[in-house]
Amino acid sequence: MGKYEIVLTTDRTMMSNHHGREFLGFLATGPAIGLPEKLWLWLAAPKVRVDEEGKPVEAPYGMRKVEAKLIEAGFKAAIIDPDAREKGVKIIAGGPGAWQWLWELEYWRKWGVDLVIDGEVEKVIVEIVEEALANEPLPDYIYVGPYDSPSIEEIPVIKGASVNGLVEIMRGCPRGCRFCPVTLRPLKFIPLDIIAKEIKVNLEAGIELFHSEDILLYGAKGVEPNPEALIKLHKLVLKQLSL
Ligand code: SF4
Repeated sequence: MGKYEIVLTTDRTMMSNHHGREFLGFLATGPAIGLPEKLWLWLAAPKVRVDEEGKPVEAPYGMRKVEAKLIEAGFKAAIIDPDAREKGVKIIAGGPGAWQWLWELEYWRKWGVDLVIDGEVEKVIVEIVEEALANEPLPDYIYVGPYDSPSIEEIPVIKGASVNGLVEIMRGCPRGCRFCPVTLRPLKFIPLDIIAKEIKVNLEAGIELFHSEDILLYGAKGVEPNPEALIKLHKLVLKQLSL
């Protein structure tokens, strides 16, 4: 861990740019059937480029947000490749699959996970990390509900490149699928100036891709597309990528 008091990391299937082909990453969501596991892992999730401290050039976007929030709060935090290892650390787990720990209580204890956080963390992570570093007792599980959802101003701009140039354009989803936790989060559209800043961060790291999911919902009224907002967004991206 060296000079960092907080290390953010994840498993290899997430800490990879999937050879620059995002959809190859879906291969990593299944088991290695009919292939030696090492070959499957290399195909789906090759190791990313890292610097001399083990910091990856590209890292998962959500993790970049947490890193930015902690750095802005004054912590020495960094994203480190999962091949960096040190014993005796406190483990706080989160991310899109955090809820799955509720079904794996045995592994939760076996692997020494101290706390699982489920949901948007910007409003809560600084206080939790302060408590963890002060060796105060942590709860086992925190669910971040809609009332603790961060405002746009509380969401930091990423400080390092995201995997394959992913940039968030909105949170929440108006489609309302019954099984989905994303739709329960308050809907918010990320302003163009913040999107522009994050594209710049990626470009400066040599990541010239830009992708986002369900882009036609940007600025939408309900699920009805908003042509004006979409044209502005696309013009911005084309200008920045000089296409
Ligand atoms: S994020 Fe996907 S699954 Fe969830 S509500 Fe929207 S469309 Fe449905």
